[in-house]
Amino acid sequence: MYSSQVLIAGGGPTGLWLACELRRYGIDVTILEQRSSRTGESRAGGLHARSLEILGSRGLADRFVAAGRRVPFAHFAGLWLEMGRLDTAYPYVLGLVQSRIEALLEDHLLELGTKVRWGAGIAEVVPFADHVEVTTATGERFTAGYLVGCDGGRSTVRRRLGIPFDGTDATVSSMLADVRLAEPPGPIFQRRTPLGDFSVLQLEAGHHRLMLNHYEPATTTAPPDLAEFRAAFTALAGTDFGLHSPQWISRYHDAARLAARYRDGRVLLAGDAAHIHWPAGGQGLNTGLQDATNLGWKLALTVNGHAPAPTAPTLVNTPPVAPPTAPSPADLTTRTAAELNALATGAPAAAPTEGLALLDTYEAERRPVAARVLANTRAQTALCRPGPHTDALRATVADLLTIPEANDRLAAMVAGLDQADRAPTTPLAPGRGTLTAPPETLTTASPWADRVEARPDTCERLVRPDGHIAWSGGPGLHEALTTWFGPPTAR
Ligand SMILES: Cc1cc2nc3c(=O)[nH]c(=O)nc-3n(C[C@H](O)[C@H](O)[C@H](O)COP(=O)(O)OP(=O)(O)OC[C@H]3O[C@@H](n4cnc5c(N)ncnc54)[C@H](O)[C@@H]3O)c2cc1C
Repeated sequence: MYSSQVLIAGGGPTGLWLACELRRYGIDVTILEQRSSRTGESRAGGLHARSLEILGSRGLADRFVAAGRRVPFAHFAGLWLEMGRLDTAYPYVLGLVQSRIEALLEDHLLELGTKVRWGAGIAEVVPFADHVEVTTATGERFTAGYLVGCDGGRSTVRRRLGIPFDGTDATVSSMLADVRLAEPPGPIFQRRTPLGDFSVLQLEAGHHRLMLNHYEPATTTAPPDLAEFRAAFTALAGTDFGLHSPQWISRYHDAARLAARYRDGRVLLAGDAAHIHWPAGGQGLNTGLQDATNLGWKLALTVNGHAPAPTAPTLVNTPPVAPPTAPSPADLTTRTAAELNALATGAPAAAPTEGLALLDTYEAERRPVAARVLANTRAQTALCRPGPHTDALRATVADLLTIPEANDRLAAMVAGLDQADRAPTTPLAPGRGTLTAPPETLTTASPWADRVEARPDTCERLVRPDGHIAWSGGPGLHEALTTWFGPPTAR
């Protein structure tokens, strides 16, 4: 039986980044991956601004930016969004395929002293009150204080725990092929047809991704071969642009599902194991990285015995969605149009703050974010369907997107920047919270010196290790320190 403090199921981007985050706190991590080696599957096409801000706060953004391509546009349902006005150091999408992102993350994990255990697919999970045991398909046994399922949309961990994964079934059948083209139509090309749509995107010099969508569920889940892809693409585009030398061909869909719980005792879920959706707008990998960033420091403090007792933290980035309610007659005269729309679609309600332990704030903060991503990808599916009604709706939305504020609202959402409490400009201390304040205020944090770095500055802020502001001047610093970093160390 192998033993460690934390076991991670899955060496995809979420598992790799979570392992890096935990290593920054000196946590003994074992990362089990069922594949025998890293694949060359390109999958995700890039990193959004919030992910780059997080990597930047760890001193890592430069190596990713150097490896990728800065693209000044993102898209929403294939309608282009300008990223250049976003309030961030990274006002673009970084074009970088997932296999390269994973390789960079794995290199960094090696720098932090941990290797992925390849060929170690988890088959069984047995949770206990004080530890978790897992057995791999080859019969190896592992034990740890906590297990995090980062094992993708078909998560064995989630299934073994019996955590429901409800949502909406597939309505779209999509295929992609990463290929070389004899006659490329340009770096980006897309067309809608009455039968579906297709697009061509240059991934790297000489390599293109061809994608197509049919707006009905697929009749098979079998991976397509080149002949099937070529026939389907040609039927929509009238040409295959001379495609040859396929690197990866895949079939996917728009089923959108969310785990009912992100935590069950000592087992947690992150990334695609917790949420799946259509890859429209390129948000899945990014959401997983941001899950891992939110969870990593909380799990590390818990494992290291510094977790605060259940209290009432003020959650960050969580506008929980309430069920839609009908406006009363009085509402029609007293409320603004925005308030009425919020009532009709599910308005932000009071955050759940009673009795949350630090680890529970992970689900409370991140599950609503995933629910919003699922909602926006469902909206994109609706906005992509063929037909004159959708054509008219797209023209209306495209017109609205010429208004800079409308463009920027959607651009910030897709980029993960729609979080008022993020602190992108504060350089973060590795593996610790960061307090900036005048010297007389900094002394308040002395009993937390092992968990919070104090820096003299005129800007008063307590920033959590995941880059969210926990206090911004005024009263409440002692309370914020206790809430997020546990009790003060006795002197
Ligand atoms: C066509 C396409 C395009 C996309 N484009 C984008 C994009 O542009 N931007 C974006 O952000 N996202 C994009 N995505 C989504 C992105 O690929 C996923 O969201 C991302 O891979 C999720 O990362 P993850 O680590 O959570 O899960 P995964 O990448 O699925 O990793 C899970 C890992 O767990 C391993 N595993 C599975 N079962 C076990 C087990 N029992 N034991 C141990 N290991 C196990 C798997 O082998 C895998 O390595 C795209 C997806 C597709 C299909």
